[in-house]
Amino acid sequence: MNVLIIEDEKALADELEIFLNNYNYICEVCYNGTSGSEKIAVNLYDFILIDLGLPDYDGLDLLKEAKKYNPEAVCIILTARAEVYDRIKGLDLGADDYLPKPFSLLELQSRMQAITRRKFGLKQNLIDLGGFLINLTDRTIAYYNTEISTITKKEFDLIAYLILHKNRTLTRSQLSEHIWGSIVNDDYDSNYIDAHIKNIRKKLNVHASPDWLETVRGLGYKIKINA
Ligand code: CA
Repeated sequence: MNVLIIEDEKALADELEIFLNNYNYICEVCYNGTSGSEKIAVNLYDFILIDLGLPDYDGLDLLKEAKKYNPEAVCIILTARAEVYDRIKGLDLGADDYLPKPFSLLELQSRMQAITRRKFGLKQNLIDLGGFLINLTDRTIAYYNTEISTITKKEFDLIAYLILHKNRTLTRSQLSEHIWGSIVNDDYDSNYIDAHIKNIRKKLNVHASPDWLETVRGLGYKIKINA
């Protein structure tokens, strides 16, 4: 999943980026509100972390822009301004969560996970797809009791992202943007996604046919999960 970090304290912004990279998030960092505003208007993110106290921009205005141009992104406000008023205003404007500084990076990460589960209506972190057990917390896939260790990090990211958007077709461009963080102009440029899907199928097929992983002709891919 991709994350936009808008934070003018360079040390904190960089620390966030390194920390979230370790949890397999793809990060873009803006050290001021103006460049953050530009990114929000052209890219689509899964998460937008907004510092309210920016030298050149009102963080609450950025939040409004995020809700407008990135309606599907989860917005989390980071701020030293612990005043109740800002907190309420931020939540009123549609922020999904609020972390007063200083905060623990682990807390941020666990809140991001909790919001993700809530947002996508996942009741648990272990998904059973016809005997394939996908553990979104440990990032492992097993077929019954056998762990499939050949699945790479990126292959897991692909599967996990499709599970979160279950029953919805995602285009190659969407997958590329959210998992690799690179924007491609059309599906032709992103046929490496096809190669990854092919590898995933091959590795899973050793155990059973992953019928739930569907190719939607001319569009992209989808993971079907009933109820
Ligand atoms: Ca600041």
